[in-house]
Amino acid sequence: MNNPDCLFCKIVAGEIKADIVYETDHLLAFRDINPQAPTHVLIIPRRHVATINDVAVAEAEDEIGRLFAAAAHIARLEGIADDGYRAVMNCNEAAGQTVFHLHLHLLGGRNLSWPPG
Ligand code: AMP
Ligand code: ZN
Repeated sequence: MNNPDCLFCKIVAGEIKADIVYETDHLLAFRDINPQAPTHVLIIPRRHVATINDVAVAEAEDEIGRLFAAAAHIARLEGIADDGYRAVMNCNEAAGQTVFHLHLHLLGGRNLSWPPG
């Protein structure tokens, strides 16, 4: 396993069950266990990367780009693409990051206020 202490690496390895909605060779998308909107999906790279700060510049275009492309695809599958949705990453404690394996939140299915808290 990538990082045996990491919750999301355990989901990637199939050690912890998740409600998977989409997957590719590079990434996995599953429903958030504590959803903040009717659609709340987490999209993660299969490889362990702790935060957005840890994505090397050389890899960022592919690694981050794939997550957003998957978010748009899943938004269409979930029927929220036209109404609109939010795709957001929290980085470190001040932003509320609690799981230190890179993940993109896809939130939709209700009106989302701005600015976020
Ligand atoms: P963040 O606060 O940005 O680090 O987001 C972590 C997210 O992971 C939270 O929204 C949690 O509800 C979610 N989460 C934690 N454990 C699990 C799990 N076992 N399966 C699915 N989502 C989880
Ligand atoms: Zn991990």
